[in-house]
Amino acid sequence: MKTVLITGSTSGIGLGIAKEFAKEKYNIVFNGLEVDGPQIAENIGKEYGIKTMYSPANMLKPEEIKAMIEQAITTFGSVDVLVNNAGIQFVSAVEDFPEEKWNAIIAINLTSAFHTTKHVWKKMKEQKFGRIINIASAHGLVASEFKSAYVSAKHGLVGFTKTIALEGAPFNITANAICPGYVKTPLVEKQIADQAKTHNIPESEVINKIMLQKQAVKEFVSVESLGKMAVFLASDTANTLTGTAIPIDGGWNAQ
Ligand code: NAD
Repeated sequence: MKTVLITGSTSGIGLGIAKEFAKEKYNIVFNGLEVDGPQIAENIGKEYGIKTMYSPANMLKPEEIKAMIEQAITTFGSVDVLVNNAGIQFVSAVEDFPEEKWNAIIAINLTSAFHTTKHVWKKMKEQKFGRIINIASAHGLVASEFKSAYVSAKHGLVGFTKTIALEGAPFNITANAICPGYVKTPLVEKQIADQAKTHNIPESEVINKIMLQKQAVKEFVSVESLGKMAVFLASDTANTLTGTAIPIDGGWNAQ
């Protein structure tokens, strides 16, 4: 049975992706900062009849990332599929953007994917199979004001995806980015509340007039659609699908 490691999988999109891999009976390595991480991993293991483990590795700390991958390989023999999903957001005009927020966004949303990839690479190369799936964003393809660090990190992640797709091609290692529009997760719920306060308008108005304004389809993207795409990208069938950035964004990038 194949093993998938998903960073930031004890909440939101990562958790949704994990459930789709659980349905396909993968072993799953969970990671994330939520305090109930170990319980989430255990419960999903029981519910779907699969093997799981949990790592609290902080994506800001390269030595913890390395230890997480080593532990995963020791436990399951390999990491066949790597999903780089952990991410944070901070919204501010560039002139006021706090340096520590810039650094944290670049480290978690971009640099951690470099560290995880670096440490799974040798084994993927040896076994001539690897699937790397980076959860970028519509903001990996286009910008919005006040999100300088996030947009920079996500554009960087798309560039990183293309590079490792080229390096991985001789070894049946593919790399792709999924670029979601708005998904209703804790990350976005916080933004809705913040924007409602800033603009002094109800949350429903923030959703319709500010958030979904850029999407042609005026609906949040479902975590299931992202999870099912990730499962397909991880399959043997998707061996020539590599180096792409796939928008699942309600038509945002069509405009
Ligand atoms: P979320 O806040 O629900 O989940 C983020 C996960 O990342 C959590 O498990 C959290 O613990 C983990 N995480 C954060 N910092 C970490 C760190 N230092 N070390 C380890 N784990 C850490 O958010 P989400 O909306 O599910 O976001 C998941 C990914 O999807 C992010 O990369 C985000 O940028 C991207 N994304 C989200 C949306 C959206 O609308 N929600 C849209 C496009 C892309």
